[in-house]
Amino acid sequence: GWLQNEVALITGGGSGLGLALVERFLKEGASVAVLERSAEKCTDLEQKFDGQVLAIQGDVCSAADNQNAVKATVARFGKLDCFIGNAAVWDHGARLINTSMEQLDKGFDELFAINVKGYLLGAKAAAAELVKSCGSMIFTLSNSAFYAEGGGPLYTASKHAAVGLIRELAFELAPKVRVNGVGPCGMKTDLRGPQALGQQDTRIMDSRSPDAIKAILPLQFFPEPEEFTGPFVLLASRQNNQTLTGVMINADAGLGIRGIRNVAGGLEL
Ligand code: NAD
Repeated sequence: GWLQNEVALITGGGSGLGLALVERFLKEGASVAVLERSAEKCTDLEQKFDGQVLAIQGDVCSAADNQNAVKATVARFGKLDCFIGNAAVWDHGARLINTSMEQLDKGFDELFAINVKGYLLGAKAAAAELVKSCGSMIFTLSNSAFYAEGGGPLYTASKHAAVGLIRELAFELAPKVRVNGVGPCGMKTDLRGPQALGQQDTRIMDSRSPDAIKAILPLQFFPEPEEFTGPFVLLASRQNNQTLTGVMINADAGLGIRGIRNVAGGLEL
């Protein structure tokens, strides 16, 4: 495996992409800890991986929970090599005009607290250990970190903010720690929305369909969460990544090279 003897802490590792990362990092030889808000998902993680994964129940919005997660990871595995900020919520595309002032006001605080403050506090909690291990940070972005209409203004702004965080931290933590991002496109996960928008029980596939996602992607398939894990392994791997920092990998099945008149130029090939 590419991550033999490495130790990773993944936020939101209880389902979706985070869970796929847990499985992939284990397969690559890493030891894995997870900071996850859902107690039920934490229990599932401990059971599914036979106690091999350290599941820490907590909220990424809490400074104390982030510090506790790093402490518990180091206590269990002896060090930390890779912090993956991944826990987030979506806004189901709630648009400016169709969303009330009160919902935008409260929704911003709730969504930014998870998607942006959660990444910042996680980075702060992990930084000292990563400096020690000359490790790396990776943050999950989205097509919404680059383009419009992958969400509404709340989600899109939060993922753009994460790009700024990556650039600044990549500068501040060089030369010791590499800091990068991976931006997936749509996939079937448990991704929900903020309570302030009434979306705490609405999952992404309640408002998007596999066919609709597939149709807009130049690579013309609906990716599974595990199909996004390769770039994370690349970025975390010491052998494979000695030179990438401050880099955002668009793992979005080609959205950036979508044509104006055709989604893909080679449909007839
Ligand atoms: P998911 O809901 O399956 O996974 C996110 C996990 O984070 C959940 O287990 C959830 O319980 C946890 N979580 C939420 N808030 C938390 C908090 N405050 N503290 C701790 N844990 C918390 O969704 P996912 O789609 O796997 O999301 C993972 C990442 O992928 C997110 O950053 C998301 O923005 C990004 N992403 C998802 C899609 C998609 O289509 N699903 C597309 C692009 C990017």
